[in-house]
Amino acid sequence: MTPGDELLFLSLGGSGEIGMNANLYGCRGKWLMVDCGLTFGDHEYPGIELVLPDLQFIEERRDDLVGLVLTHGHEDHIGAIPYLAADLKVPIYATPFTAGLVAGKLEEEGLTGQVQLKIVERRGELDLGPFRIRYVPLAHSIPEGNGLLIETPHGRVFHTGDWKLDDTPVLGNPTSADTLTAIGDEGVLALVCDSTNAFVETPSGSEASVYEGLLRTIGEAPGRVLVTTFSSNVARLETLGRVAVESGRRVCLAGRSIDRNLKVAKATGYLRDFPEPVRFDEAMRLPRRDLLIISTGGQGEPRAALGRIASGQHELKLGEGDRVIFSSRQIPGNETAVGRVMNALSELGVVTITDRQAHVHVSGHPARPELAEMYKWIRPQLLIPVHGEPRHLREQARFGVSQGVPQALVQEDGDLVRLAPGEPRKIGEERVGRLVLDGDVILPADGSTMNERRKLAYQGVIAVSIALGRGGRLIAPPVVRPVGVPVEEDRADFIRDAVDMASRAVDPGLDEDRLRENVRLAVRRCATLWTGKKPVVEVMVVRAE
Ligand SMILES: [Zn+2]
Ligand SMILES: [Zn+2]
Repeated sequence: MTPGDELLFLSLGGSGEIGMNANLYGCRGKWLMVDCGLTFGDHEYPGIELVLPDLQFIEERRDDLVGLVLTHGHEDHIGAIPYLAADLKVPIYATPFTAGLVAGKLEEEGLTGQVQLKIVERRGELDLGPFRIRYVPLAHSIPEGNGLLIETPHGRVFHTGDWKLDDTPVLGNPTSADTLTAIGDEGVLALVCDSTNAFVETPSGSEASVYEGLLRTIGEAPGRVLVTTFSSNVARLETLGRVAVESGRRVCLAGRSIDRNLKVAKATGYLRDFPEPVRFDEAMRLPRRDLLIISTGGQGEPRAALGRIASGQHELKLGEGDRVIFSSRQIPGNETAVGRVMNALSELGVVTITDRQAHVHVSGHPARPELAEMYKWIRPQLLIPVHGEPRHLREQARFGVSQGVPQALVQEDGDLVRLAPGEPRKIGEERVGRLVLDGDVILPADGSTMNERRKLAYQGVIAVSIALGRGGRLIAPPVVRPVGVPVEEDRADFIRDAVDMASRAVDPGLDEDRLRENVRLAVRRCATLWTGKKPVVEVMVVRAE
């Protein structure tokens, strides 16, 4: 598939899921890639922390790829770069803060110098093949959120990236309504837009309002206060720095990613007035109501700072009367883990506060009133919802049309869409998929390793070893070893029964494959009778002739 004299759009990730955004635009033989993110593993992927998009489609066409352009520095937009970008062999473009985060990741993976990272000025422009790209700053929950105005021979696309409306964002100068209206005045073919909060009726709210909420909640706290937030939310760190000064508390930082983000933020001109943090030992000597801890771990990660503080395995201690404020959104799927940390804190006598009890967080994504404003300013001919699960994409499409956008096109990962010329429509399906990072190895998420892993995790395994002598007869009883099979106190009796079944399944007349299959089925039947489970049975045959 090589784009002709036309404008194409193809999502390799992020359309049909929240996470791992990777989008392609195609025109006159060239492709432009926007973002290269990851997502996090869940119970579907036992043993996996990171899930990456399968970029084979563009890897096979990397000679036609003119560049990878990044909208902002969140993991779901840049996280896959250390694992996949070296293979693309194409320059990466990003504004200073985003580039600082990417450079840190490349350094950690020992890839510095192997990937070309080019810094784009804030509000900068780029010419890449048939694409002219203009960075359009928009408010978001990280510095330097950018929409991209992509000019092509077939019309202009406004690719929003993640955004919200915020007149008082604490950090940064988002593009004004006037500028966005001026972009609309020049005519926009397609708006490719964030769908995360397509069901939300109330506007996301301003970062400045969080300052008031946090100041009140922290001001009235009698003891130590710990606030947990996403470490990339530099505006929130700025807000917390100001709240600390205003409420007479010293700041203590806990968590490596906070240190890392603070360093990049300071190097790129942010957080210049952030108060000097105190060390852990100093923090513990301060009067209790003089301390504000800012920590990682708000998603319930057991090894992050908050998780270790909650389980008493950290130099920083919390106790009776102290408070922990969750100044972040709980990512769906993390409820149980967050609940576990909250229970541990509660047992220490700590009071936990989330955005349900106090105004301590605002979202970084546009709710319906904000989407409506954007449609009104940009006035696209076509709306393409991205950055959402299927229900979010469809809801934004319905909402856009109800707000007067002439047409909306719902696409998902792998749908090849022709935006122009002619009526926009899906013209094909391309290969997409998910990869997992398993240890240091990248694997297909639906390949044999992960399928085996799932079976082992859900059903357990029984290893059976058969020793055959002359004529294919058993020279010793089979050895049966169940692992992760629920036999517990019946273990010895079960093994005796399984050994008996396995022995009877050994028929000297069978060839080895048939014999192995016979034994496998017999032992599995036995396990099902004892436990109701169907464990994986692995039969090894040893011959002594
Ligand atoms: Zn984001
Ligand atoms: Zn995002």
